[in-house]
Amino acid sequence: MKFIDGHNDTVIKVKKNGIKRFLKGDRSAHLDLPRAMEAGFAGGFFAIYTPDRSVFPQIEDYQTAEGYQLPLSEPCDHHYAHQYTDYMLNLLLQAEQNSQGALKFVSNKEELLKYVNEGTIAGVLHIEGAESIDPDFKALYTYFDKGVRSLGPVWSRPNIFGEGVPYHFPSSPDTGVGLTNKGKQLVEKCNKLGIMLDLSHINEKGFWDLAGITNAPLVATHSNVHALCPISRNLTDQQIDAIGQSNGVIGVTYSLNMLSQDGKIDANVSMDEITKHIHYIADRIGIEHVALGSDFDGTTIPSKIEDVRGVPGLLDHLQKEGLTTRELKKVSMDNWLRVLQDTWKA
Ligand SMILES: [Zn+2]
Repeated sequence: MKFIDGHNDTVIKVKKNGIKRFLKGDRSAHLDLPRAMEAGFAGGFFAIYTPDRSVFPQIEDYQTAEGYQLPLSEPCDHHYAHQYTDYMLNLLLQAEQNSQGALKFVSNKEELLKYVNEGTIAGVLHIEGAESIDPDFKALYTYFDKGVRSLGPVWSRPNIFGEGVPYHFPSSPDTGVGLTNKGKQLVEKCNKLGIMLDLSHINEKGFWDLAGITNAPLVATHSNVHALCPISRNLTDQQIDAIGQSNGVIGVTYSLNMLSQDGKIDANVSMDEITKHIHYIADRIGIEHVALGSDFDGTTIPSKIEDVRGVPGLLDHLQKEGLTTRELKKVSMDNWLRVLQDTWKA
């Protein structure tokens, strides 16, 4: 069964190991072109995230009996983020050019449907954290022209648009201030351009600020259920309800730190630890509002998935748990297609 995935950070592996390995096979990555095709990966969001210049703190170093409270990352310099994002965007476009037609980054609905139907991998260019965008929004238009059709205003740190959640467990997502005036303008401009806005990583005040302004469906590309795993990154029931009411979608992530009720990070967890998030969202707001959002190459994932070839096993598991073929198709593909078609202008 073919599927669309809400979030990967595979460009990090492309930068590290080269385009050729992405195209021919990179066993150090969760996702490369040959395994994507083998698995039925019909398309997905390819995120560009500018990393902290300091070493990112590890959860293990902060773990106590009660949980962990990683410090909020420092803001990221705009000029550095702009250069870095340009470089990564170029890498992805080069990979596309050298893929002999196997991978296409799509910028409108027609291309999206055409490539998904004909079996070409349909990539969506996504910027995760808008540090690369200047306060005058010039870069936003440049990125749009280059094909970017999805944007998360913040990663887990503050910027001129708003603030992301630090990684705290247990913790509510209500960890800081909401959108700034520039952040509100960014939402309006993305609405006008038809760029999808991603609520993953944003804090709760920012979430409600964005939800109050946007005219597009609410989307979290890689977030799970706070009631099942109370980490700051996951969505409260009220947030889940708002996403459902907006006809939006939540991409459930396989990220180990966002799965379990007790906050333990265990690579040997069962498939149920992922599927319980999918069922919870489907039961609460409907099967039309839950999809996949792996976070491949951006995090550690269960060994039962291991890499992109583990996704068919996850879908099989959902079917065994009682999802009909039609429901499964919504989760694997149709919900992402609907939300993109409802959001993009062309
Ligand atoms: Zn992320």
